[in-house]
Amino acid sequence: STAQIGVTGLAVMGRNLARNFARNGYTVALHNRTAARTHDLVAEFGEEGIFVPTETAEEFVAALERPRRLVIMVKAGAATDAVIGEFAPLLEPGDMIVDGGNAHFADTRRREKELREQGIHFVGTGVSGGEEGALHGPSIMPGGSVESYAALGPMLEKISAKAKDGAPCVTHVGPDGAGHFVKMVHNGIEYADMQLIGEAYQLLRDVGGYTPAQIADVFRTWNTGRLDSYLIEITAEVLSHVDAATDRPFVDIVQDRAEQKGTGRWTVQIALDLGVPVSGIAEAVFARSLSGHADLRAASGELAGPRPEPIADTERADFADHVEQALYASKIVSYTQGFHEIAAGSAEYDWDIDLGAVARIWRGGCIIRAAFLDRITAAYEADPGLVSLLSDKGFAEEIAAAQNDWRSVVSTAVTEGVPTPGFAAALAYYDTLRAERLPAALTQGQRDFFGAHTYRRVDREGSFHTLWGGDRSEVEA
Ligand code: NDP
Repeated sequence: STAQIGVTGLAVMGRNLARNFARNGYTVALHNRTAARTHDLVAEFGEEGIFVPTETAEEFVAALERPRRLVIMVKAGAATDAVIGEFAPLLEPGDMIVDGGNAHFADTRRREKELREQGIHFVGTGVSGGEEGALHGPSIMPGGSVESYAALGPMLEKISAKAKDGAPCVTHVGPDGAGHFVKMVHNGIEYADMQLIGEAYQLLRDVGGYTPAQIADVFRTWNTGRLDSYLIEITAEVLSHVDAATDRPFVDIVQDRAEQKGTGRWTVQIALDLGVPVSGIAEAVFARSLSGHADLRAASGELAGPRPEPIADTERADFADHVEQALYASKIVSYTQGFHEIAAGSAEYDWDIDLGAVARIWRGGCIIRAAFLDRITAAYEADPGLVSLLSDKGFAEEIAAAQNDWRSVVSTAVTEGVPTPGFAAALAYYDTLRAERLPAALTQGQRDFFGAHTYRRVDREGSFHTLWGGDRSEVEA
């Protein structure tokens, strides 16, 4: 037994993670259900480091030094349970199973509890950065026990991405499912970021009158400022790409029906359960879903409404600046909502998650990596008890400066008939928080009228009910 770590599941992610460990000097045991993948890896990349290829579960476990560190990188769901079922009986107390797949955090909690009874540490770990990240340094979000992090942390820190200041993009997020929960919300925020970028693009195109190649340049400029991020950078790449077969902009030859694998949907489902309003993320999930309803869209082609008219050339640059403000302000709101969900999950499951540390490990390696995350880290470091990112003085000031343009962009979009559910939902969230009085008072009245659900008064303690069907006098409930 010579391997410091083992990886089972050697498809794109597992194979690159295994190579990343090996390139960092670790001896890596390899295993895959179909042994051909194991041998292919060694044949192709064997010279990158020291690999110990194995074919059976017994050989794999025997190759690992104790306490064993075993990484599972298989299809999330039933496959993960099957692999755990195969390996757990071969392990001993103190051994660690790291699940790096996109598991649902509730499954991770269940698996952690079951394995804990056998003395095995189960470490549900979010891994972000795709295939390239897995090889060159992902952002890593491990849950599980403190003891397991003591044994795994140094290795994970070595293979993780490093932020610009050199800090590794990994931290012990919290017990049991905390890591997979945070990965889930990361993906929800990713959906929101992509939707907001999509809305900015559509407005620049339909109202700004820019071509895709010109919009790519606008995004490149934005990428040198406060929106500096991986997603803005790749957006410029996609927009400037020209389809070789037709010589048309690539973005015009792709079917406009977005797909999804489900982590965004989970983020919204769990937010509903926790009572956290993640309207921006929800709109992003719905927007992908609606884009895919070809039947509804085909049946609605004749619906009345404006066709956007491009503005005058002289107004374009100003309009692009306004869109940048709208995008930035909306982005602050979607991160506010995502961090609220993490705080609520942490409270519900006693995870004690450090929100500043979460922002810190998202600064490199992951899909939502952005200069902006330095600001979020700083906001939580300045006030670890910050109730909402929007109440951070710096963010509040930036939104204050952006809001006129944000409002004008949303009203232009409405007037011109360009759908901007992300910008508009973010603005509505912001205005809801600012409002002195909300129509929720009327909602409470309606509920009391039809269901005797009672209400609270602004001027006295207690619950009250009005006798709506009688003399309309008020009784204390
Ligand atoms: P896939 O999700 O495509 O899974 C393929 C791997 O799972 C293969 O090694 C396959 O073995 C194995 N497998 C499937 N079913 C079983 C089973 N019943 N028993 C044993 N092994 C099984 O691979 P990816 O590399 O794309 O992803 C791995 C994990 O990482 C997934 O959970 C994914 O959600 C997550 N992830 C993926 C990212 C990405 O960008 N792709 C990013 C971040 C996380 P075999 O070769 O024998 O078929």
